[in-house]
Amino acid sequence: MSYLQNKSVLITGASGGFGALLVTACLQRGANVTAVDLDLEQLKQALPEGDHCLLMTADVTDPVAMQSATEQAVSVFGGLDILVNNAGIMPLAFFQDHKVAASAWNRCIDVNIKGVLNGIIAVYDTMMQQGQGHVVNLSSIYGNAAVPGSAVYGASKAAVNLLSDALRLESKGKIKVTTVRPTGVPGTGLGQGVLNPEAISGILGSDYPGYLETMMAVMNGTADEHLTSSDSIGYAALEPERLVEQILYAIDQPWGVVISDITVRASNDRYVI
Ligand code: NAD
Repeated sequence: MSYLQNKSVLITGASGGFGALLVTACLQRGANVTAVDLDLEQLKQALPEGDHCLLMTADVTDPVAMQSATEQAVSVFGGLDILVNNAGIMPLAFFQDHKVAASAWNRCIDVNIKGVLNGIIAVYDTMMQQGQGHVVNLSSIYGNAAVPGSAVYGASKAAVNLLSDALRLESKGKIKVTTVRPTGVPGTGLGQGVLNPEAISGILGSDYPGYLETMMAVMNGTADEHLTSSDSIGYAALEPERLVEQILYAIDQPWGVVISDITVRASNDRYVI
């Protein structure tokens, strides 16, 4: 039995990474899913459009587009039970890189903070009128503390944490709120937005050289099995599927139960925050 059966779920950033995996997992559990991303062709390539899966383009930075996406979800599926604010970008760079990074940092603030806010605004009235709803916001361990190289991305995720907590308090038990703070998960598209690869060193501290060696081996397929098997205590690089399993667990709960905050790590990933 799945509590997701017949629920209406809207997921942003749905054509890649965690988003696409989560859409597929929700469909498998009997949910009706509205999958939102920037490009329709990419959505179509990633996901099976059909009676239970609506594909919609919307830029999360555009409040009108987000409103329209949620209205479509309500109209097609008769309501909106769960919103997953998953879309995000990660332009890691140091302050000294500001000449090349400033515009990407502004976009990061728009997507990661205003995008989450636009999602909340788009569903708030509907969920309050329904008397129930669930908002899941993708934060990051980068939102836990400052490390060199992640000022703007980290600040955007710390803002997501506060938006989540404020929504939980203000909606007085009518909207469940879950903050997801994943560790670094290499197998998605997020790393493509990194502006200065050296900026990754901040979250690893003195383990940076060892991390690079491990990641190269994982990506080349030459790593020892104990580093790549989630059944091993040496598991070093969390696979996207492992993270999505935990989001799925958090949203596939009865209405009266909320998993409000989850951090998922690989047991041996060594991040310092
Ligand atoms: P990803 O790049 O694979 O997927 C992100 C998706 O968001 C893409 O499909 C992209 O097209 C979409 N997107 C970007 N900007 C958008 C916009 N303005 N409007 C609509 N869609 C937009 O990345 P991912 O790793 O799957 O990341 C998903 C979320 O998880 C992000 O919020 C990210 O910050 C967070 N996160 C990821 C990691 C990780 O290591 N992968 C760790 C912690 C948190």
